[in-house]
Amino acid sequence: MEEIQQKDIEGRPPLVSIVSPCFNEEGVIRLFLKELLPVLQKLGFRYEIVFVNDGSTDRTLEVLLEVQKQEPAIRILNLSRNFGKEAALTAGLEHARGDAVIAIDVDMQHPVETIEAFVKKWEEGFDVVVGKRLSRTGEHPLKKASAKLFYHIHGKISDINLPSDVGDFRLMDRKVIETLKTLPENQRFMKGIFAWMGYKTAVVEYYQEERAAGVSSFNGWKLWNFAIDGITSFSTVPLRIWLYVGFVISMLSFLLGIALIIEVMIQGIEVPGYVSTITMVLFLGGIQLIGIGILGEYIGRIYKEAKRRPTYIIEREY
Ligand code: UDP
Ligand code: MG
Repeated sequence: MEEIQQKDIEGRPPLVSIVSPCFNEEGVIRLFLKELLPVLQKLGFRYEIVFVNDGSTDRTLEVLLEVQKQEPAIRILNLSRNFGKEAALTAGLEHARGDAVIAIDVDMQHPVETIEAFVKKWEEGFDVVVGKRLSRTGEHPLKKASAKLFYHIHGKISDINLPSDVGDFRLMDRKVIETLKTLPENQRFMKGIFAWMGYKTAVVEYYQEERAAGVSSFNGWKLWNFAIDGITSFSTVPLRIWLYVGFVISMLSFLLGIALIIEVMIQGIEVPGYVSTITMVLFLGGIQLIGIGILGEYIGRIYKEAKRRPTYIIEREY
């Protein structure tokens, strides 16, 4: 509290960083800034806006460079290609210099006015302030339902508790950002990482708007893979479950074996048995393949992690 209100060595007020990853967002950047700047000016703090251009194929970079001419508080990190939202967000957070750092989507789905409430909570002494979505306007019912299912399963089997309807829209104190920087993994499921770090957290509710322009880059297959990443990053239950499946199946086959032996002793050898044999073989084969597939998921993660490649590459900072 007082700690935050304190001015820095040169007597300046604290610095607030806004971090926004952009992938093909040429249509919304100006609108985003038009709404964001008055909010920031009203705060009475110094501010910087860090845009991360995540390998956009449209005029995103040109638009960013143009708006930067009018607003010197804008910094642009240009990634060398599209690394995906998690990596782009990581790049922005790691390069932000603020005493408080706010991650927000540029597509206007995160209402900028909420920033005021975030900062207020930070001044009260919270290290993390998360935005909780009260509505998911502009999302397909299937996306909503699958998100709900994902949070449910994730909550059941992982070691962290992912609060539902809490996304990347959040404020983090400098010390949280410094912690984030020490995490060495390069496969980044940010929601999970945020939850894993903990810290004194406040919740601010907001209504999610529809995308102002452009299209969402998260659909079907990409979301499915995102969900698998989310689970394999924070849970080993899918690995362990095979121990129990194997155990139950062995027990059942043992009992079946005894039953068959008794049957043979009473009724003599019965030749037909094709259906039961083939069913067993196929069933067990299927189970084994699933088990191997899941092992593969984790080995794949270990493989990617073992290469120690950086999470992102910054081509240039403007
Ligand atoms: N984004 C990004 N890289 C990507 C995909 C998305 O930096 O590969 C950014 C995008 O510009 C936006 C944010 O991540 O600011 C959220 O993306 P989007 O709106 O497509 O996702 P949704 O809101 O539908 O989950
Ligand atoms: Mg969006």
